Amino acid sequence: MAALDGLPPLRDVIQRYGLDARKALGQNFLLDLNLTQKVARQAGPLEGVTVFEVGPGPGGLTRAILALGAKKVIAVERDSRCLPALAEIADHYPGRLEVIEGDALKTDFATLAAGEPVRIIANLPYNVGTQLLVNWLLPPQWPPFWQSLTLMFQKEVGQRIVAREDDDHYGRLGVLCGWRTEAHMTFDISPQAFTPPPKVTSTVVHLTPKANPIPCPVAKLEKVTEAAFGQRRKMLRQSLKSIGGEALLVKADIDPTRRAETLSIEEFCRLANFL
Ligand code: SAM
Repeated sequence: MAALDGLPPLRDVIQRYGLDARKALGQNFLLDLNLTQKVARQAGPLEGVTVFEVGPGPGGLTRAILALGAKKVIAVERDSRCLPALAEIADHYPGRLEVIEGDALKTDFATLAAGEPVRIIANLPYNVGTQLLVNWLLPPQWPPFWQSLTLMFQKEVGQRIVAREDDDHYGRLGVLCGWRTEAHMTFDISPQAFTPPPKVTSTVVHLTPKANPIPCPVAKLEKVTEAAFGQRRKMLRQSLKSIGGEALLVKADIDPTRRAETLSIEEFCRLANFL
Protein backbone atom coordinates (compact mmCIF):
# COMPACT_ATOMS: atom_id res chain seq x y z
CA MET A 1 0.00 0.00 0.00
CA ALA A 2 1.07 3.60 -0.55
CA ALA A 3 3.10 4.90 2.35
CA LEU A 4 1.76 7.95 4.20
CA ASP A 5 5.23 9.29 4.89
CA GLY A 6 7.59 8.43 2.03
CA LEU A 7 9.12 5.58 4.03
CA PRO A 8 9.20 2.10 2.47
CA PRO A 9 6.16 -0.22 2.78
CA LEU A 10 6.20 -2.23 6.01
CA ARG A 11 6.19 -5.55 4.17
CA ASP A 12 9.55 -4.57 2.60
CA VAL A 13 10.92 -3.41 5.95
CA ILE A 14 9.99 -6.72 7.58
CA GLN A 15 11.63 -8.66 4.77
CA ARG A 16 14.77 -6.52 4.68
CA TYR A 17 15.40 -6.87 8.42
CA GLY A 18 14.19 -10.48 8.71
CA LEU A 19 11.49 -9.62 11.24
CA ASP A 20 9.63 -12.91 11.18
CA ALA A 21 6.98 -12.71 13.90
CA ARG A 22 7.76 -14.42 17.20
CA LYS A 23 4.83 -15.83 19.13
CA ALA A 24 6.62 -15.63 22.49
CA LEU A 25 6.80 -11.84 22.06
CA GLY A 26 3.13 -11.55 21.08
CA GLN A 27 4.12 -10.34 17.63
CA ASN A 28 1.16 -9.74 15.32
CA PHE A 29 2.04 -6.79 13.14
CA LEU A 30 -0.29 -4.24 11.55
CA LEU A 31 0.98 -3.41 8.06
CA ASP A 32 -1.90 -1.25 6.81
CA LEU A 33 -0.94 2.34 7.55
CA ASN A 34 -4.53 3.55 7.03
CA LEU A 35 -5.56 1.22 9.81
CA THR A 36 -2.73 2.26 12.13
CA GLN A 37 -3.74 5.89 11.55
CA LYS A 38 -7.32 5.02 12.47
CA VAL A 39 -6.03 3.49 15.73
CA ALA A 40 -3.85 6.51 16.50
CA ARG A 41 -6.73 8.93 15.79
CA GLN A 42 -8.73 7.42 18.65
CA ALA A 43 -6.31 9.24 20.98
CA GLY A 44 -7.57 12.62 19.70
CA PRO A 45 -5.52 15.32 17.91
CA LEU A 46 -1.83 14.52 18.37
CA GLU A 47 -0.17 17.76 17.22
CA GLY A 48 2.25 18.87 19.91
CA VAL A 49 1.57 15.81 22.07
CA THR A 50 4.14 13.44 23.59
CA VAL A 51 3.17 9.80 23.10
CA PHE A 52 4.49 6.66 24.78
CA GLU A 53 4.23 3.52 22.67
CA VAL A 54 4.82 -0.02 23.89
CA GLY A 55 6.07 -2.58 21.39
CA PRO A 56 6.52 -0.58 18.17
CA GLY A 57 7.80 -3.68 16.29
CA PRO A 58 8.56 -2.68 12.68
CA GLY A 59 6.88 0.68 13.35
CA GLY A 60 3.44 0.69 11.67
CA LEU A 61 1.68 2.42 14.54
CA THR A 62 4.74 4.56 15.32
CA ARG A 63 4.71 5.94 11.78
CA ALA A 64 1.00 6.75 12.03
CA ILE A 65 1.46 8.61 15.34
CA LEU A 66 4.34 10.65 13.91
CA ALA A 67 2.54 11.36 10.63
CA LEU A 68 -0.40 12.67 12.69
CA GLY A 69 1.90 15.29 14.17
CA ALA A 70 2.95 14.01 17.61
CA LYS A 71 5.70 16.20 18.99
CA LYS A 72 7.62 13.19 20.26
CA VAL A 73 7.20 9.42 20.52
CA ILE A 74 9.03 7.43 23.17
CA ALA A 75 8.75 3.75 22.26
CA VAL A 76 9.76 0.76 24.39
CA GLU A 77 10.58 -2.38 22.41
CA ARG A 78 11.95 -5.64 23.75
CA ASP A 79 12.98 -7.21 20.45
CA SER A 80 16.38 -5.84 19.40
CA ARG A 81 15.80 -7.12 15.83
CA CYS A 82 13.34 -4.22 15.38
CA LEU A 83 15.82 -1.47 16.27
CA PRO A 84 17.34 -0.88 12.77
CA ALA A 85 13.86 -0.54 11.24
CA LEU A 86 12.91 1.92 13.99
CA ALA A 87 16.17 3.83 13.46
CA GLU A 88 15.10 4.47 9.85
CA ILE A 89 11.90 6.06 11.14
CA ALA A 90 13.86 8.12 13.69
CA ASP A 91 16.09 9.42 10.85
CA HIS A 92 13.01 10.38 8.84
CA TYR A 93 11.58 12.35 11.79
CA PRO A 94 14.68 13.95 13.36
CA GLY A 95 14.41 14.45 17.13
CA ARG A 96 10.87 13.08 17.32
CA LEU A 97 11.35 9.34 17.95
CA GLU A 98 13.25 7.90 20.89
CA VAL A 99 13.43 4.11 21.11
CA ILE A 100 14.22 2.40 24.39
CA GLU A 101 15.24 -1.23 24.13
CA GLY A 102 13.74 -3.01 27.12
CA ASP A 103 10.84 -4.68 28.86
CA ALA A 104 7.82 -2.41 29.24
CA LEU A 105 6.85 -4.23 32.44
CA LYS A 106 10.10 -3.03 34.01
CA THR A 107 9.94 0.50 32.58
CA ASP A 108 9.17 3.38 34.91
CA PHE A 109 6.85 5.33 32.61
CA ALA A 110 5.96 7.93 35.24
CA THR A 111 9.62 8.93 35.58
CA LEU A 112 10.04 8.95 31.78
CA ALA A 113 7.12 11.37 31.54
CA ALA A 114 9.09 13.80 33.73
CA GLY A 115 5.99 15.75 34.66
CA GLU A 116 4.91 16.34 31.05
CA PRO A 117 1.41 15.22 30.04
CA VAL A 118 1.61 12.13 27.82
CA ARG A 119 -0.78 9.89 25.95
CA ILE A 120 -0.12 6.18 25.66
CA ILE A 121 -0.95 4.42 22.39
CA ALA A 122 -0.11 0.76 21.80
CA ASN A 123 -0.89 -2.43 19.97
CA LEU A 124 0.01 -4.41 23.07
CA PRO A 125 1.67 -7.79 23.15
CA TYR A 126 -1.20 -9.98 24.40
CA ASN A 127 0.90 -11.73 27.00
CA VAL A 128 1.69 -8.55 28.94
CA GLY A 129 -1.14 -6.19 27.95
CA THR A 130 -3.44 -6.66 30.95
CA GLN A 131 -0.59 -6.36 33.46
CA LEU A 132 0.61 -3.12 31.86
CA LEU A 133 -2.90 -1.69 31.99
CA VAL A 134 -3.26 -2.60 35.67
CA ASN A 135 0.13 -0.99 36.41
CA TRP A 136 -1.04 2.25 34.76
CA LEU A 137 -4.33 2.14 36.70
CA LEU A 138 -3.01 1.63 40.19
CA PRO A 139 -0.49 4.32 41.11
CA PRO A 140 -1.18 5.64 44.63
CA GLN A 141 -1.56 9.22 43.39
CA TRP A 142 -4.35 10.25 41.01
CA PRO A 143 -4.74 11.73 38.39
CA PRO A 144 -1.90 9.69 36.86
CA PHE A 145 0.96 10.83 34.63
CA TRP A 146 -0.99 9.90 31.47
CA GLN A 147 -3.85 11.85 29.85
CA SER A 148 -5.27 8.89 27.97
CA LEU A 149 -4.63 5.26 27.08
CA THR A 150 -5.49 4.05 23.57
CA LEU A 151 -4.79 0.33 23.60
CA MET A 152 -5.43 -2.67 21.44
CA PHE A 153 -6.50 -5.88 23.15
CA GLN A 154 -8.15 -9.17 22.36
CA LYS A 155 -11.85 -8.28 22.15
CA GLU A 156 -12.65 -10.42 25.18
CA VAL A 157 -10.23 -8.33 27.29
CA GLY A 158 -11.83 -5.14 25.94
CA GLN A 159 -15.23 -6.46 27.03
CA ARG A 160 -13.86 -7.11 30.52
CA ILE A 161 -12.43 -3.58 30.71
CA VAL A 162 -15.75 -1.87 29.96
CA ALA A 163 -18.02 -4.39 31.77
CA ARG A 164 -20.23 -3.32 34.66
CA GLU A 165 -22.33 -5.29 37.17
CA ASP A 166 -24.65 -8.03 35.91
CA ASP A 167 -22.53 -8.48 32.78
CA ASP A 168 -20.83 -11.86 32.26
CA HIS A 169 -17.54 -10.08 31.52
CA TYR A 170 -17.62 -8.09 34.78
CA GLY A 171 -14.69 -8.83 37.08
CA ARG A 172 -11.66 -7.31 38.76
CA LEU A 173 -10.55 -5.51 35.59
CA GLY A 174 -13.98 -3.90 35.09
CA VAL A 175 -14.01 -2.65 38.69
CA LEU A 176 -10.49 -1.20 38.54
CA CYS A 177 -11.05 0.45 35.15
CA GLY A 178 -14.54 1.73 36.00
CA TRP A 179 -13.40 3.07 39.35
CA ARG A 180 -10.69 5.37 38.01
CA THR A 181 -11.41 5.82 34.30
CA GLU A 182 -14.01 6.38 31.63
CA ALA A 183 -13.40 3.46 29.29
CA HIS A 184 -14.98 2.53 25.99
CA MET A 185 -14.33 0.22 23.07
CA THR A 186 -13.92 2.21 19.86
CA PHE A 187 -13.72 -0.33 17.01
CA ASP A 188 -12.86 -3.96 16.31
CA ILE A 189 -10.05 -5.23 14.11
CA SER A 190 -10.39 -8.58 12.39
CA PRO A 191 -7.60 -11.18 12.64
CA GLN A 192 -6.89 -10.82 8.89
CA ALA A 193 -5.59 -7.28 9.42
CA PHE A 194 -2.54 -8.67 11.23
CA THR A 195 0.57 -10.48 10.04
CA PRO A 196 0.41 -13.25 11.11
CA PRO A 197 -3.32 -13.29 11.94
CA PRO A 198 -4.09 -14.06 15.59
CA LYS A 199 -6.90 -16.51 16.46
CA VAL A 200 -9.27 -13.86 17.81
CA THR A 201 -10.75 -10.46 16.98
CA SER A 202 -9.02 -7.45 18.53
CA THR A 203 -10.51 -4.20 19.75
CA VAL A 204 -9.24 -0.71 20.48
CA VAL A 205 -10.07 0.60 23.95
CA HIS A 206 -9.78 4.27 24.92
CA LEU A 207 -9.49 5.21 28.60
CA THR A 208 -9.31 8.63 30.23
CA PRO A 209 -8.74 9.26 33.95
CA LYS A 210 -11.72 10.33 36.06
CA ALA A 211 -10.91 13.58 37.83
CA ASN A 212 -12.54 12.46 41.10
CA PRO A 213 -12.87 8.71 41.49
CA ILE A 214 -14.60 7.47 44.68
CA PRO A 215 -11.97 7.81 47.46
CA CYS A 216 -10.75 4.31 48.25
CA PRO A 217 -7.42 2.64 49.16
CA VAL A 218 -6.03 0.92 46.06
CA ALA A 219 -4.54 -2.10 47.85
CA LYS A 220 -7.77 -2.80 49.72
CA LEU A 221 -9.88 -2.53 46.57
CA GLU A 222 -7.57 -5.03 44.92
CA LYS A 223 -7.89 -7.36 47.89
CA VAL A 224 -11.69 -7.23 47.93
CA THR A 225 -12.09 -7.73 44.17
CA GLU A 226 -9.56 -10.56 44.14
CA ALA A 227 -11.39 -12.43 46.91
CA ALA A 228 -14.87 -11.72 45.55
CA PHE A 229 -14.18 -12.68 41.93
CA GLY A 230 -11.86 -15.54 42.91
CA GLN A 231 -15.09 -17.39 43.72
CA ARG A 232 -17.54 -15.41 41.60
CA ARG A 233 -20.40 -17.96 41.72
CA LYS A 234 -20.37 -18.14 45.52
CA MET A 235 -22.27 -15.84 47.86
CA LEU A 236 -20.11 -12.99 49.14
CA ARG A 237 -20.33 -14.15 52.77
CA GLN A 238 -18.41 -17.25 51.56
CA SER A 239 -16.00 -15.70 49.01
CA LEU A 240 -15.02 -12.88 51.41
CA LYS A 241 -14.65 -15.19 54.42
CA SER A 242 -10.88 -14.74 54.69
CA ILE A 243 -11.15 -10.92 54.80
CA GLY A 244 -14.11 -10.37 57.12
CA GLY A 245 -17.01 -12.24 55.51
CA GLU A 246 -20.50 -11.54 56.78
CA ALA A 247 -19.42 -8.95 59.39
CA LEU A 248 -17.66 -6.85 56.74
CA LEU A 249 -20.67 -7.06 54.42
CA VAL A 250 -23.10 -6.03 57.17
CA LYS A 251 -20.88 -3.07 58.06
CA ALA A 252 -20.92 -1.99 54.41
CA ASP A 253 -24.69 -2.49 54.28
CA ILE A 254 -24.47 -5.19 51.59
CA ASP A 255 -26.64 -8.32 51.63
CA PRO A 256 -24.22 -11.23 52.39
CA THR A 257 -26.14 -13.57 50.08
CA ARG A 258 -25.33 -11.49 46.97
CA ARG A 259 -22.67 -12.58 44.46
CA ALA A 260 -19.64 -10.58 43.28
CA GLU A 261 -20.97 -9.94 39.78
CA THR A 262 -24.02 -8.04 41.17
CA LEU A 263 -22.01 -5.45 43.12
CA SER A 264 -21.56 -1.99 41.67
CA ILE A 265 -18.17 -0.28 41.68
CA GLU A 266 -19.44 2.05 44.42
CA GLU A 267 -20.29 -1.00 46.57
CA PHE A 268 -16.83 -2.51 46.02
CA CYS A 269 -15.30 0.80 47.12
CA ARG A 270 -17.51 0.79 50.22
CA LEU A 271 -16.28 -2.71 51.11
CA ALA A 272 -12.66 -1.65 50.60
CA ASN A 273 -13.18 1.36 52.85
CA PHE A 274 -14.56 -0.84 55.65
CA LEU A 275 -11.82 -3.49 55.29
N1 SAM B 1 3.17 -1.98 17.19
C1 SAM B 1 3.42 -3.02 16.21
C2 SAM B 1 2.25 -3.12 15.28
O1 SAM B 1 1.18 -2.60 15.62
O2 SAM B 1 2.39 -3.74 14.22
C3 SAM B 1 3.72 -4.36 16.87
C4 SAM B 1 2.67 -4.88 17.82
S1 SAM B 1 2.95 -6.52 18.38
C5 SAM B 1 1.29 -6.99 18.78
C6 SAM B 1 3.66 -6.35 19.99
C7 SAM B 1 5.06 -5.79 20.08
O3 SAM B 1 5.46 -5.71 21.46
C8 SAM B 1 6.15 -6.62 19.41
O4 SAM B 1 6.95 -5.77 18.64
C9 SAM B 1 6.95 -7.23 20.56
O5 SAM B 1 8.31 -7.46 20.25
C10 SAM B 1 6.80 -6.16 21.63
N2 SAM B 1 6.92 -6.67 23.01
C11 SAM B 1 6.57 -7.88 23.50
N3 SAM B 1 6.77 -7.95 24.83
C12 SAM B 1 7.26 -6.73 25.20
C13 SAM B 1 7.66 -6.17 26.44
N4 SAM B 1 7.57 -6.86 27.57
N5 SAM B 1 8.13 -4.90 26.46
C14 SAM B 1 8.20 -4.17 25.30
N6 SAM B 1 7.83 -4.65 24.09
C15 SAM B 1 7.35 -5.91 24.04
